[in-house]
Amino acid sequence: MEERHESELAQSARALDDVDRALERLSEGVYGSCETCGAPILEADLAADPTRRVCEQHLALGPERGHQEPVPAD
Ligand SMILES: [Zn+2]
Repeated sequence: MEERHESELAQSARALDDVDRALERLSEGVYGSCETCGAPILEADLAADPTRRVCEQHLALGPERGHQEPVPAD
């Protein structure tokens, strides 16, 4: 039933969610720290993307790689 490609609405909803999370992190006092390793995120990067949640290293790994993926036993 779900469309594979995102509608503009879905994209907007996700952008809102990013802002929401950024505000949450601000209130928790962890804004500007990588949520995976806790390293400080560069100010220039935050200026470019205020909703940024991971450091450069983890950004390179992809935005949603914070969790462990199960390794298939082979
Ligand atoms: Zn990191």
